[in-house]
Amino acid sequence: MNEFKDYKLGTELLKSIDMLKYKEPTKVQHIVIPTVLENKDIVVKSKTGSGKTAAFAIPICEKIDWEENKPQALVLTPTRELAMQVREDFFNIGRFKRLKIVSVYGKHSFTTQQKDLKQKTHVVVGTPGRVLDHLEKGTLVLDSITHLVIDEADEMLNMGFIEQVENIIKAVPRERITMLFSATLPEDIEKLSKKYMRDPNYITINEEEKAFENIEHILYEVKVNFKQQALINITITENADSCIIFCNTKQDVDDLFEKMTRLSYACERIHGGLEQEDRTSIMADFKRGYFRYLIATDVAARGIDIDNISLVINYDIPQNKESYVHRTGRTGRAGKKGKAITLLTSYEEKYLLEIEDYIGFKVTRKQLPSQEQVIDATLLFEEKMRTRAKLKKEKGTELNQEITKLHIAAGKKTKMRPVDIVGTLSNLEGMTAADIGIISVQDVSTFVEILNNKGEMVLEKLQTTPMKGRIRRVSRANEYK
Ligand code: ADP
Ligand code: MG
Repeated sequence: MNEFKDYKLGTELLKSIDMLKYKEPTKVQHIVIPTVLENKDIVVKSKTGSGKTAAFAIPICEKIDWEENKPQALVLTPTRELAMQVREDFFNIGRFKRLKIVSVYGKHSFTTQQKDLKQKTHVVVGTPGRVLDHLEKGTLVLDSITHLVIDEADEMLNMGFIEQVENIIKAVPRERITMLFSATLPEDIEKLSKKYMRDPNYITINEEEKAFENIEHILYEVKVNFKQQALINITITENADSCIIFCNTKQDVDDLFEKMTRLSYACERIHGGLEQEDRTSIMADFKRGYFRYLIATDVAARGIDIDNISLVINYDIPQNKESYVHRTGRTGRAGKKGKAITLLTSYEEKYLLEIEDYIGFKVTRKQLPSQEQVIDATLLFEEKMRTRAKLKKEKGTELNQEITKLHIAAGKKTKMRPVDIVGTLSNLEGMTAADIGIISVQDVSTFVEILNNKGEMVLEKLQTTPMKGRIRRVSRANEYK
């Protein structure tokens, strides 16, 4: 079996998979999808970038009962960024089945999440702390959960979330499928799986070499007080289109950001000390290619999927070996070539040895670019600095083109219900219930997705078609989401 259609998935799912341009299942998907469809628990050890999200999202979306109002799947992730990304991936996969996916995470309005959770919700993706908050306040009900996913379990452990994760697991009905994904399987995680899972299949996907094949790993030795200048020189000679620079501390990120901003780099920074809203918008802008250099702590390393990052620089060598794999795994994705450069100062040799031992090969040592090389490269570098980066297409863009979100100026306060919307819309000429996507009725507004490129036509007709006895103000919703 190596085609998605061999799994007997519903047509709605096959359609989204097709539009996401997933031609065939990845190795991990090939194993996980049938296992979950057969209702077996599974523990998967697999490197970053192997397609784990879709591996659990596809069978879950397939098995979800649309009619059920309470959440049927719960996915736990270690970071807020990852929760948002998993939500988006899920949404793209489940959209033609009209699945409602809600993400919950800290530093984001509790009441907004509460409102979202009150409506029909099929899947909840969240960080452990906020999931527990919702459980305590009774705003998240787990009675109907049939699928539990623990994503990036080892990172959850590193971040000290293991106890919270256990408490959540205990709150989920025992009659369920549990899936655990991790890049490594330390003892604590094995224990966890033994304690809370039913005779799981343990799967190890060995794609390390493959994932690394596309990345050129380079090391430069530098003096501590020459580090910033060395970094600047490297960015000039490399002249990357899209680059992440990793530092070990917030302070280093801030210092480097200040220096690079002074030198007119199109750059932004991200670390745990910034407001969540800023973190979110910076990541979104970087994904779209609005600026070329992102300076980050490890918050940006885990699981985050951004296309076409050609260069990763470890301004500070990571002090934990897994982190090296995660950081450098941001480049060389999806078959593209990437480069990972690490700066090493004296006394840091031991971290390098640990990393090399872990990845199983020696990182190539090179001489820093000479003054001459830097001068030679400056012209091209400055030329690129003056031109704007090519904007990247967001994942799911193509799906979005087919779908128009409309805003109707009527909601709960005016007794509008989803059935009224479905009734009016499916009575329009050329429309069927299958052309209607997610409907969200709020206090004074309603948002509805029109599928299959029929949005324009519906928008026009609704200008003269009454809904619940009156002509309503209908317009294109401003923002997609
Ligand atoms: P992981 O969780 O293993 O790090 P992700 O789930 O983030 O990996 O997937 C990595 C990338 O691969 C994403 O951009 C995703 O859209 C893409 N991808 C997933 N499955 C497939 C597939 N079957 N074919 C092509 N691309 C895929
Ligand atoms: Mg992942």
